[in-house]
Amino acid sequence: MALVPCPECGRSISTAASACPGCGHPVAGQRRGLDGDVAGKAVSGIATWLVVPWIARAIVAVVGVIALFTFLGTR
Ligand SMILES: [Zn+2]
Repeated sequence: MALVPCPECGRSISTAASACPGCGHPVAGQRRGLDGDVAGKAVSGIATWLVVPWIARAIVAVVGVIALFTFLGTR
């Protein structure tokens, strides 16, 4: 936890506070950091959700093609 000067009134405000207690000015840095964290997690979550099934499908497709050719070859 650190104290930063409020850009509006100059009062020292905690970075843990969402807004300046003196003038109500929002603490932009803290808010941006939180939003960035949530956005980053959402992006990596969506990326994992999109990529993992694709990899699973690719493996199933390759194994399926090999099994099919093996099956056709043995007949
Ligand atoms: Zn202020």
